[in-house]
Amino acid sequence: MDLGIRGRRALVCASSKGLGRGCAEALAAEGVDLVLNARGAEALEATAQAIRNAYGVNVTAIAADITTEEGRAKVLDAAGEIDILVTNAGGPPPGLWSDWGREDFIKALDANMLTPIALMSALMPKMIERRWGRVVNITSQSVKAPIPALGLSNAARTGLTGYVAGTARQVAQYGVIVNNMLPGIHATDRAISLDGAVSKNEGISMDEAKKRREATIPARRYGTAEEFGRMCAFLCSEHAGFIVAQNILLDGGGTNATI
Ligand code: NAP
Repeated sequence: MDLGIRGRRALVCASSKGLGRGCAEALAAEGVDLVLNARGAEALEATAQAIRNAYGVNVTAIAADITTEEGRAKVLDAAGEIDILVTNAGGPPPGLWSDWGREDFIKALDANMLTPIALMSALMPKMIERRWGRVVNITSQSVKAPIPALGLSNAARTGLTGYVAGTARQVAQYGVIVNNMLPGIHATDRAISLDGAVSKNEGISMDEAKKRREATIPARRYGTAEEFGRMCAFLCSEHAGFIVAQNILLDGGGTNATI
């Protein structure tokens, strides 16, 4: 299927690895020019070059922390006119409800709620002017069903989801389509660190930790960044214009709910 977005320009945040990279690659495969971002310049430049070589699209790489005002300014300055925005950043640390004070919440809200909102606020006015835009926010399965140890993430991502639910309905009339993607467990560095914590706490091997987690997922495996990216590209496509403010769960059936 031709997604109809060849020649569009996308900003994909936090995209040197993992799910962000999966989204960037799937967009590049459709002929979309990219602005990529991550904090570490070396891995980012390596990813940018690999994508240029594989897909022949233009790729600009901006090393910056997207969760800071200075980092966002640097990325937005270099990005220019953007048709497609994919927001993403690392997730907050796990813990117990009583571990966190005001500063921890401010940090989590900044990274996983106010950063995507700031990026949408900066880029949607031009999308509205041009009567075409696509925004995909990478959030988490925890929006549908809380992950108790991720209280900071549950709070920040649910706040973003509420904002998107209203805002997407204000901008859809201008051809600007905003949706969220909710990953369950995917085989990225994040999964390695989660399995590492289980392996350490329970004194089992990494392989055993992974097997135990897989057994809780109806699909009996972790998702891949490639399949996550394909869904992202579809939501950014010409064909997604009637999908508004949805929360698309990619979790192998892990969230046990009827709808
Ligand atoms: P990942 O494999 O750890 O990749 C993170 C990417 O984001 C890297 O390129 C990293 O590069 C970049 N990054 C992190 N913090 C950044 C920042 N402040 N500014 C700019 N770039 C930043 O993570 P992932 O698994 O793809 O996860 C992506 C998001 O989905 C996270 O928010 C995660 O919590 C959420 N999620 C993931 C899963 C999963 O199973 N993988 C499940 C649910 C939710 P640098 O370190 O060089 O900046």
